[in-house]
Formats: sequence, structure tokens, C-alpha cells
Amino acid sequence: FDEVLVEGSVLAHYVAERNHYEELLDELFRSSGEARNMIGSRCIWHINSTAFGGGVAEMLPHHICLLRELGFNVRWLIFKPKEEQFFQFTKALHNSLHDVNVAGLNDLLPHYLEASQKGAAELERIIRPDGFLVIHDPQPLVAAAKFLESHPHPAIWRCHIGYPKRTPTVDKIWEFLGEYLHQFQRIVLSAKEYAFDTDLPIDIIPPSISPFSSKNRNYEGPAGQTLEHSVSFNSQEFEPTPSLQDILGSRYFLHVSRWDGLKGIDRIIAAYDRFVKTALAEAYDTRLVIAGPDPLDVADDPEGREYFEKCVLLCTQLSKEVRRRVYLVCISMKDHDANAEIVGRLQQNAHGVFALSREEGFGLTATEALFRGKPVVVSSAFGLKRQIVNGLNGVVLDEPDIEDKAAEMMHHLAVGYSDFEEMARTAREYCLRSSTQISQIPKWYHSMQSALS
Ligand code: UDP
Repeated sequence: FDEVLVEGSVLAHYVAERNHYEELLDELFRSSGEARNMIGSRCIWHINSTAFGGGVAEMLPHHICLLRELGFNVRWLIFKPKEEQFFQFTKALHNSLHDVNVAGLNDLLPHYLEASQKGAAELERIIRPDGFLVIHDPQPLVAAAKFLESHPHPAIWRCHIGYPKRTPTVDKIWEFLGEYLHQFQRIVLSAKEYAFDTDLPIDIIPPSISPFSSKNRNYEGPAGQTLEHSVSFNSQEFEPTPSLQDILGSRYFLHVSRWDGLKGIDRIIAAYDRFVKTALAEAYDTRLVIAGPDPLDVADDPEGREYFEKCVLLCTQLSKEVRRRVYLVCISMKDHDANAEIVGRLQQNAHGVFALSREEGFGLTATEALFRGKPVVVSSAFGLKRQIVNGLNGVVLDEPDIEDKAAEMMHHLAVGYSDFEEMARTAREYCLRSSTQISQIPKWYHSMQSALS
């Protein structure tokens, strides 16, 4: 385990922009008093498996800052076993939970259990009797469960992934995870449709964003030269090699995610290919930018590199006309602030943001784009469909033939951007009201208080 130190002040920003957050702040302060009485000085430990990259790592810093400013004692631990097979197992489990049949899960299981056992022993040295555990996702679940068996503490399991259908593969995974939930008091899921068979009470708390994080804040002026060290482009045909500033100054469609097959990056490349081939005149000044973490920097996603290479291969198979307009952007995760600024600036300047995931529990990148007031085009993956109401705050494309439909949308965005402006405005307003972190904290209070009672 490594502890991540979190510092900073977030609450003052909300207060300074009270006109946007009046009701939410009132509710926050009203509920905080009661929660403080019940939780007192207990140490709330958030535990997940990565400090950078992915939705959980994105949300925790400002969530923790806010709770601290509201008078709670909160700390953050990362469970990051060195064994490669540990994350191979959890990635396979993640895929199986999305009903992708994965071979080798059973062979990898002993590695997961062994690392978890070691993790449990380490927790004994870290967690004091006043601890309250909030465990994120399956990676640290078993370590926590084994620790709790001998050292009971109040504990919540917050599972960020979910699948709205019941299938034999999915049921098997829930059954496996369910065996380790006996020591927990509650479960938090992103949507009620992700509920599985369990005796534990389930609370629903959709993920949320911080309007004041370095990713989501408004950037003015050109990007600093120093950012160039944190970003590399894979675009063999573009001479000279582009800079971040070149990209930001161009008219581009954007996709942001980890390099993961479920994110449907191949579908966006195929859509752009169709768009350019069928409407070269309209496409002449557009680009496609696909940004993700440098796969070498993401320890908890062992498939990232392979999928990134697949995306490179897909690009090399495109015609020269198309290929020279597609940029695969790898962002170094070593400098957290640089990553946040690069992603934030790419989102801020995009002509339209696409998320064509095959499966998605909740797409934080889609919410980030909605918050920026961008036209957002998504697949009908369950989580995305819940975030975006077709025609109101974005566009939802149904299967099948999603690539053709996305190509049409690119065309529409290229020639009729004004048709999307009203939607983009609605998107931002809706986000301010219901997708910011302060709107979710009272729900967290409810969950923590219930776990204690
Ligand atoms: N992200 C990032 N850098 C990248 C790619 C993604 O900071 O190169 C962030 C992205 O902005 C979002 C999170 O990682 O905040 C991804 O969350 P999402 O829910 O979309 O996907 P997950 O990775 O959790 O499946």
C-alpha cells in the first residue's frame, strides 16, 4: 500500500460561485452537521488501486479535499501489488463482469488471492481501531475482506463497474465477489440496474466531477511548452511532427480514454474513415484526436499496450488521406498536472467529443465533455445512455451500424455545428446542477451513517 497525500481547498471555489451552487451548498452544509456528529473523528480510508488514470483516481482527490474541509478525517491508500498477474486477474475479472468471456481467470486466481492475503497483513499495520473503510472496485476488495475478518471495522464497498444484464458469466463473477462482502455493511453502485444478488443494502451514487480540478477548469492562452514533454503523437504521415499547440488550434473530433477494447476506439477510427472517404470536401479541415494514457505508465491495465498497438495498426491500414488526419496521443502519467491540463485543453477545444464504448458503467469523460458544453456523441452503452438524453444534452447512437451513424454525425458537426449549440448549453447547465461532487456528498453521508448505525 502507498498513501497518496492530498492537499488543497475546493469548497471556497464553490462558495465563490454561489450563484451556480446555492441549493447544493445549502444541502451540503445542512447534512454535514449531522454526519459529523455520527462519524466524528473516525479516519475514513479510501482504498483503490491507482493514483493516476481512470475515473476513480480522477474523482478521489477533490472528494477527499471537500470532506476534509467539511471537518472529516480522510486518507487515501493505493493497493498496488507488484505481481503482474494480480492486475491480469483483475482486468480479466473486469472484462468478465462486462460479459466478455475470458480464458485464464482460474489460473490467475491464486496470484490475486496471494497478493490480497499479503495486503490484508499490511492493512493490520495501517488501519487503527477508529478506521472506516471505503473500498473501491474489485482490486483491493479481497485484501480488505481478509483484514476485516479478523479486524471488524465499518466498511463500504464502492463498485464503479457494472453491467445491466444477467448472464451466466456475469453472475459467476458477482457470486465470486459476493463471497468477500460479508464483512461489509453496504455497497455503493453507480446505477440501480447494476444491482446483483446480495443481502447487503445498496446505495446508488453516480460518479461526479469537480468543476475546479485542473482537468475541468477553463484554460486561457496558449498551452505552455513544458506540456510537450508529456505528450507524444503517433501519426506517421504528418510532417513535421505536430505539437500540442498545432492540435489545439485545429478543428478536431476527440475521444479520450484508456486504451481498452471496451472503449470502442476502433469504432471511432472506422467512423472517421467513412466520413473522410464519403465527404472529403467537408472533412478537409477536420482531424480525429484519440488521447489516452501512455500504456507503459498504467500498471493496473495490462492490456493497454496491446490495444494501443492494435489502434496503431488500424491507423496504418487507413488510406493516406485519412491517416494523415488521425492522431493517436499518448499522455505521460508521470506528471499528473500535465496530464490534467492536456486532457482538459483537448476537451475544451474539441469540435465534438465521441464515446462509442461497447460497454460503459459510467463514462466520466462524457460528463467532462458535457460540463465543457461540447457536443457529445455516444453509443447506447448502458452507462452512457443514462448520462445523455438523445437530443437534449447530446446524441445517442443506437446499434447496429454505429460506425455509419457516427460518420454521419461527424459530417453534421462539420457542416452544421450550430444545430448542436442548444444541446451543448443544456448539457453544461445540467452538469452544474447534478454532476458535481458537492451534489453527491450528502448521498455519501447517508451511506456512511447507515453503515455505522
Ligand atoms: N483520463 C486522463 N488521461 C487520459 C485518459 C483518461 O486523465 O489519458 C481520465 C479522463 O479524463 C477521465 C478518466 O480518466 O476522468 C476516465 O474515466 P472514465 O469513466 O471515462 O473511464 P474509466 O477509465 O474509469 O473506465
